[in-house]
Amino acid sequence: MKFANETLFLVFSLLLSGLFISAIPYFRKRKLSNFNNIWLLALGLNIFAFLCFASASTISPFLLTIANSSFVAGYFFLGLFARAINQRPTQFLSRLSPLLFIVFACVFEYIRQSSTFQVRVFFVVSTLIVCLVWILTELYSARKNKPHIQLDFLMFTTFAELLLGVIRLWLVLSNTSIVNINLYEEPFLSSLVRWLAVSFTVLSYVSILGFWAEVLSQENSKNIEDNIRIKSLLKEREALIANLLKANKTAATGALSASIAHELNQPLGASSINIQFLRRKLEGGLLNLEIGKEVLDALESDNKRVATIVRSLRSIFTEHESNLEEYDLADLIANVLEIVKPELKAKRIQMQLSIDKGLLVKISSNEIEQVILNLLNNAIQSLEGANSSLRSIVIVVKADGDSVLLSIRDTGVGVPVEFKQNLFELLSTTKQTGMGLGLWLCKHIVTRYKGSIWHEDVEGGGAQFHFRLPKAS
Ligand code: ADP
Repeated sequence: MKFANETLFLVFSLLLSGLFISAIPYFRKRKLSNFNNIWLLALGLNIFAFLCFASASTISPFLLTIANSSFVAGYFFLGLFARAINQRPTQFLSRLSPLLFIVFACVFEYIRQSSTFQVRVFFVVSTLIVCLVWILTELYSARKNKPHIQLDFLMFTTFAELLLGVIRLWLVLSNTSIVNINLYEEPFLSSLVRWLAVSFTVLSYVSILGFWAEVLSQENSKNIEDNIRIKSLLKEREALIANLLKANKTAATGALSASIAHELNQPLGASSINIQFLRRKLEGGLLNLEIGKEVLDALESDNKRVATIVRSLRSIFTEHESNLEEYDLADLIANVLEIVKPELKAKRIQMQLSIDKGLLVKISSNEIEQVILNLLNNAIQSLEGANSSLRSIVIVVKADGDSVLLSIRDTGVGVPVEFKQNLFELLSTTKQTGMGLGLWLCKHIVTRYKGSIWHEDVEGGGAQFHFRLPKAS
């Protein structure tokens, strides 16, 4: 009987060790510092207790005290685990636990030396019953909050352990013939009940492992759902930004439309006069070769002028976002200047250019033209408010390591000190009719191309904005 008992204790400790090892990945994955993982400690204590039970008769009977204390401690920690599932406070109880175990171990050691087997069984089993009732009540309310098939099973195994504990207690206490025996000499029937209870202990740990497997798989599927949701939110954000880009484009260029119309009217008016002149000469038979050539040259040059303005406008308004191509920044600046030229002329703004040619960037021209246009518009508007007689804008383009640097400097009013911090934020504006969209969009576009944009004050008044884009390789 002794040998069979020791072997079974060893077998069960090996079984539980297998569970312990298979549970480690869950423990690592959750990285929990709270009590949800305390069941692993309970499992470890159980394994240790069974090993002590298996070797106590060979090494020292004192190991029985350690084995029983660890066994009971395992159940206490299972109670803490069930409480943690319920999200009830466990800190105080866990701090109290060392004291409880020491008291339990002292009392058991005292009983072991001075009392009968029945008293020992009564002490251990009744403590276990208290723990099991506690675990059951915690599991019951956890289940009420959130039904869980694994928790149901754990409740069943816990209840079975409780029932078997009561039966064993009754069997041991009602058998008056056993007084001076030890655990290994326990009668067959109560031993059988004990082993049945231990089997349910193993099943309890299996169901806890199943519980975590289920929780983790639910978390994983939730993560997948979250990912899908985040992706669709990001798509929505992109669509919103695309709309903002369009709105800003209309606003930025809308303000220039009057002067563009004026600029177009000039060559068109001149062409119309030249055509009438040509017709009159033809009708009167007065057209000679020299006059005809002169008028045709004028018509051709006016036509080219109109075509250039229209081409520039088209390049700003056409959508070709997804077509990333290599562009010379100098060409993009020329396109934008064609649009703002009338306004610069009307407002007597001097434009100085220091542009290195042949610096290529891989971009959507439409977007970068918008950035340049926004910065130029801001510079023009800031010059309107400046007292200075010298109204000038300087555009510089040069290579800067692996990047191309573009700077637009004006002699305008400069950015108010208190505003500098929020300069590139959405909807931040100091203008009465401003939208506070321009600089935010500039930053958005430039960072999309892995570039950067920033502002600096100009000595003597004014502002300068720089942006950097990676050179096309
Ligand atoms: P908006 O032009 O609609 O106000 P922006 O985002 O383009 O929106 O500009 C935000 C604010 O930054 C402007 O209201 C202005 O106060 C300031 N700002 C931008 N560029 C300049 C500049 N060149 N000089 C002075 N202030 C500027």
